[in-house]
Amino acid sequence: MDRLSDAAVEQFIAVRRDIHRHPELAFSERRTAALVAAQLGAWGYEVTTGLGGTGVVGQLKRGSSARTLGLRADMDALPIAEATGAAWASCEHGVMHACGHDGHTAMLLAAAHHLAQHGRFDGTLNLIFQPAEEGGGGALRMMEDGLFQRFPCEAIFAMHNMPGIPQGQLVFRSGPAMASSDYATVTLHGHGGHGAMPHKATDVVVAAASLVMALQTVVSRHVDPLQPAVVTVGAIHAGEANNVIPAEARLEISVRTLAPQVRRSVEQRIRELVQLQAQSFGVRAEIAWRAGYAVLVNDSAQTARALAVAQKHFPAEQVNPQGPMVSGSEDFAFMLERVPGSYLFIGNGADGEPGACMVHNPAYDFNDLNIAPGAAYWVALVQDLLSPTP
Ligand SMILES: [Zn+2]
Ligand SMILES: [Zn+2]
Repeated sequence: MDRLSDAAVEQFIAVRRDIHRHPELAFSERRTAALVAAQLGAWGYEVTTGLGGTGVVGQLKRGSSARTLGLRADMDALPIAEATGAAWASCEHGVMHACGHDGHTAMLLAAAHHLAQHGRFDGTLNLIFQPAEEGGGGALRMMEDGLFQRFPCEAIFAMHNMPGIPQGQLVFRSGPAMASSDYATVTLHGHGGHGAMPHKATDVVVAAASLVMALQTVVSRHVDPLQPAVVTVGAIHAGEANNVIPAEARLEISVRTLAPQVRRSVEQRIRELVQLQAQSFGVRAEIAWRAGYAVLVNDSAQTARALAVAQKHFPAEQVNPQGPMVSGSEDFAFMLERVPGSYLFIGNGADGEPGACMVHNPAYDFNDLNIAPGAAYWVALVQDLLSPTP
């Protein structure tokens, strides 16, 4: 396997720490995108900027093959005040790279550098540096800007670090791997009145209470018990005084599922319950449904190819062929709905070891020991999937 030189590893650890010092929130990744674009351009990539706001694509063609491949890294940081005490800690108050996207960007840049200098492949390589993974849906924005029309990819891959897994371990999973996340606001409209004369009112508080209980049956009575799903009513707002029946109640609901068909059927059941419950209490219901990230489904054939590359180049104990599902969400799911591919994890450090602090925690930091294996895996994937035919 191609390994990065010690000098290259040092170089990209420095790049990672530089990005870490200057974190930028979703769609504001201007400095990071400029750094990525400048480096790719200097190495001979054809660089396109401004895709989906601050997204960057670097394209490198070798040989004459029509084969195409896409690799994606995310670039955005989180609104969290850093508490790592690291020498390379964030210079931006209240903003930090608490999900390791600084590391994902640096790993892909390190691979880009190596492939430009030494890469043995035949085809077109598209390196996708995406804005706004953390809830902003930067993947969709890049796709709306014509990402896959302008840069066709036969397969796409992305890698995320994961604390709690031994450093450098590569974790694959075929099929559904990460949860969908959707949100709904339900507003109940009734007829307000005096608390002593309920017969002159239609009470949204009673309707809301009944609806909350009815919603508990979506997962317990409607969804296949072997399919994971969560329906949470996280907020109820209604009324001010003990002797006034309010005219309006609002409920905030969040939904997570791990299969596209469960996601559709849970939404449908919630919509039915909201309308039928409201009707039964004589109140009117409005539901504002906000679709968040889709279920992330790894293509079985592409996952098998990605796994085979890891098994060929890495020791067996460093490769987990079928990791567990993860209840978090990830907008690479939208890219996978369009192009077959796979999303893998790289261990950031086992529990009790450096790198074990969970992402989105103020004490989290990307493990720089992953720059070398992460980049080496990307290089191996490109050279194996776009291997020059003898
Ligand atoms: Zn995150
Ligand atoms: Zn992340």
